[in-house]
Amino acid sequence: LIRLENIKKNYYLGKNVLQVLKGINLSVYPNEYVALMGPSGSGKSTLMNILGCLDTPTEGRYFLNGQDVSHMDDDALAAVRNKQIGFVFQQFNLLPRLNALENVAMPLIYSGVSKKEREEKARAMLEKVGLGERWNHRPNELSGGQCQRVAIARALVNDPAIILADEPTGNLDSKTSIEIMDIFAQIHASGNTVILVTHEEDIAEHAHRIIRLRDGIIESDRQNEKIRQLAT
Ligand code: ATP
Ligand code: MG
Repeated sequence: LIRLENIKKNYYLGKNVLQVLKGINLSVYPNEYVALMGPSGSGKSTLMNILGCLDTPTEGRYFLNGQDVSHMDDDALAAVRNKQIGFVFQQFNLLPRLNALENVAMPLIYSGVSKKEREEKARAMLEKVGLGERWNHRPNELSGGQCQRVAIARALVNDPAIILADEPTGNLDSKTSIEIMDIFAQIHASGNTVILVTHEEDIAEHAHRIIRLRDGIIESDRQNEKIRQLAT
């Protein structure tokens, strides 16, 4: 589903070159559940942005469903992203002037779906994340956990195969984090591929595979033994 070949990413700050990713090789298969960990500054968000087609690598190749997306222009990349990727951010990134339903329906506008169908789909997604009754509330009328549910519903609304989440519980208390992780477990169980970044070992233990980055390279990549024991 995902194949990265020797991915490098540099940021250019004036005359200085900051090498953030230094050669990442990685394959992710359909319906995997991956946690990406590593110290602050190790390149996790940079890697997620490339995986999510929000950014392109300086060097190397990224094959998504067999298609080389490493050096596409912004419009082509946006089209791929809209169809195949749902992205969830730590800061939710909801539009403050729109209510929950309108936020969730947003990606469907770009896909050219009719207004009636947009509303139906957005409602169904809000039901799925347990926010059916709050559809007409704006983000500032919702708790952090509820905002993240809205953001997850938005990520799911185009029915993408891959859900990427960059520290989705980073701004939430531990009880709310568990509720959000239950939703990711459901998403995974319904057949999606899930990749999420977290700093917390407890959160990473939900995943089936745990990858650790350090200084822009993959330091370790292992199956989650605890999950394996549960399965056997
Ligand atoms: P954290 O755990 O704090 O979120 P991270 O592993 O997600 O860290 P990145 O956000 O990928 O780390 O950043 C890696 C390095 O790249 C950092 O040194 C950061 O300052 C730098 N960096 C990230 N984005 C940019 C950018 N757009 N321009 C310049 N430098 C950047
Ligand atoms: Mg980050």
